[in-house]
Amino acid sequence: MSHTEKHTTLNNALSREEIKELLSLHDMQEIDLLCRQAFEVKRQNTGNKVYLRGLLELSNICRKNCYYCGICRTNIHLNRYTLNEKEVLDAALFAYENNFGSLVMQSGERLDKEFIHFVDSLLQMIHQKTNNSLGITLSLGEQNKETYKRWFESGAERYLLRIETSNEKLYYKLHPKDKTHSFSDRIAALKNLRKTGYQTGTGIMIGLPFQSIENLADDLLFMHDFGIHMVGMGPYVEHAETPLYNYRSLVPPSEERFLLGLKMIAVLRLLMPDINIASTTALETLNTNGRLKALQAGANVFMPNLTPEQYREDYFLYDGKPGMHTDVMTYLKDFHNKLKENGQEIGWGEKGNSRRAKRV
Ligand code: SF4
Repeated sequence: MSHTEKHTTLNNALSREEIKELLSLHDMQEIDLLCRQAFEVKRQNTGNKVYLRGLLELSNICRKNCYYCGICRTNIHLNRYTLNEKEVLDAALFAYENNFGSLVMQSGERLDKEFIHFVDSLLQMIHQKTNNSLGITLSLGEQNKETYKRWFESGAERYLLRIETSNEKLYYKLHPKDKTHSFSDRIAALKNLRKTGYQTGTGIMIGLPFQSIENLADDLLFMHDFGIHMVGMGPYVEHAETPLYNYRSLVPPSEERFLLGLKMIAVLRLLMPDINIASTTALETLNTNGRLKALQAGANVFMPNLTPEQYREDYFLYDGKPGMHTDVMTYLKDFHNKLKENGQEIGWGEKGNSRRAKRV
């Protein structure tokens, strides 16, 4: 009996050892089988629809200095920007008029009052101009409870705060150990989001220097035990202007990292059948059609970039980020045809809330 056959019926009861075994698969036939099983679990639990989230990169100003991130505070090789109100509303209306169903606003971490107020008023204006029909996800870093509450009350339903790794030791290899970058604060922020009432999301990077299969298995178990509602995780992709780039010789080759990303998505789907899992752009950086493959391995959310083109090059979190000059509707039409070949379709006009969040 193969590794994957052994786990066919186990679904969300995988042990740490079993997860490690699945993540360690190298035989392509076994990896394919794992992905097909995850696809089937997704189909049975969340349906055959892929939900769209129009991604808007609101600002690349950030107070933090994460060692892997291209827009970290100390990188001086980029122009810092914040979209203006009109640019945000135009993008939100584009998402509304083209039936995206939902929007993600992402930014570097900013605690200034002006920004907090700006986000608050944007949320209210977007809802007003779109008849409250767009689901809005925020990904704006660690904020205090009051800010989380304020944005929630102004209509943000979901919040994504990636922890990047659930291992404290590894966390401090990726972040400076200081007051601005505290592992315990990050976990506390994630808990506050859930308490506030958000559909709460997190994510990690896969294939990092110093990261083991055990670490990755623990990341999946962390998400499971936390009862997370949605996940956005993808392979680590180096950025030449960051400190972690010095350790690139410790990073697995691209194809291996990509496959590890696929296996992580597939195993997470087996562990948590009814959550939302994003197919992230980093997968596409390492493999042509990487995002499509992830949707065939258990992911069910796709995030086309709606950031105005003139800003996109200043939101390079990592090198080789794809989709920088693409007409989004042409791309989506083609993408939808590819999905249909695989028995899936885009959930046009649907918010695509996490079924787990509805259940608990
Ligand atoms: S990962 Fe996020 S918090 Fe860290 S430097 Fe980049 S934008 Fe800022």
